Amino acid sequence: MNSSRLRRAAKRRMLRWTRSVRELDRDSYSRLVDYHIHTRLCGHAIGEPADYVREAIRKGLGEIGFSDHMPLLHIRDEGLTMAPDELPTYAELVRDVQESVESIEIRFGIEMDYIPGQMDEVWEAASPYKFDYVYGAVHYLDGWDFGDSRRLSSYVGKSPDDMYVRYFEVFCEAVERGGFDIMAHPDLVKKHGVWTTLPVDEMYREAAEVLAEYDVAIEVNSSGLRKQAQELYPAHDFLKICVERGVAVTLGSDAHAPQQVGMDFDLAVKHLKRAGVTEIATFQDRKRVMRPLVS
Ligand SMILES: [Zn+2]
Ligand SMILES: [Zn+2]
Repeated sequence: MNSSRLRRAAKRRMLRWTRSVRELDRDSYSRLVDYHIHTRLCGHAIGEPADYVREAIRKGLGEIGFSDHMPLLHIRDEGLTMAPDELPTYAELVRDVQESVESIEIRFGIEMDYIPGQMDEVWEAASPYKFDYVYGAVHYLDGWDFGDSRRLSSYVGKSPDDMYVRYFEVFCEAVERGGFDIMAHPDLVKKHGVWTTLPVDEMYREAAEVLAEYDVAIEVNSSGLRKQAQELYPAHDFLKICVERGVAVTLGSDAHAPQQVGMDFDLAVKHLKRAGVTEIATFQDRKRVMRPLVS
């Protein structure tokens, strides 16, 4: 067995062990947010918004936010995002749960792909909506949707090192030019278990520098634990460098099914604390308010 396979096997054992220890109690959940929740409109999530809200209330979360994928303009794929004419339906779905549920704060967000050269049009399409926050995401590298689990064969012949270099270039550009409030899953490049041999700390440092300069927050996203990467986004070293630079941090599960709301937040909280995070970024009307992570 080679070293990366050994590493992954050890990680799996560790995950099984930590998962069996405990889930968070309601009191701990009440001080947390889950800002990364999808709806069935994206074509790869299941359940109604009310089902996600019910799960958030059951777990005791203090605040949640929907952040479905913004329609893509350069391609149309029903399995990836809603169609442009479905944006009003999305806004309505979120408004319905906001109006019918009082026991939890529900924010209205969106997850926007950074597509170089198209952001003016994307923002134009988004302009009628009063989002509480806008996630920026790098799912595409020069037109290649590397995050798409349906097309893993597209990885054949690709160099992980080149991928990391390009990913962090596009990530920094997205922070500078995207106009986003939060960068989603900041090291998504590792999603399918892709690791680089290059000095990745330098890439982290550069990204943290740009995030601090443009005052863009990042999220700790627990969905990496459910992917081949089998770890949270971002990696501990990346998160720590961001924290040292004063970058604000929020939290999301990237739920595509109701039971995934707040999933693995016990591990996420440990991850945050270990990196020195003491406050969580919350958003309303695209204004950031920091809240203590623990009392
Ligand atoms: Zn999605
Ligand atoms: Zn995403």
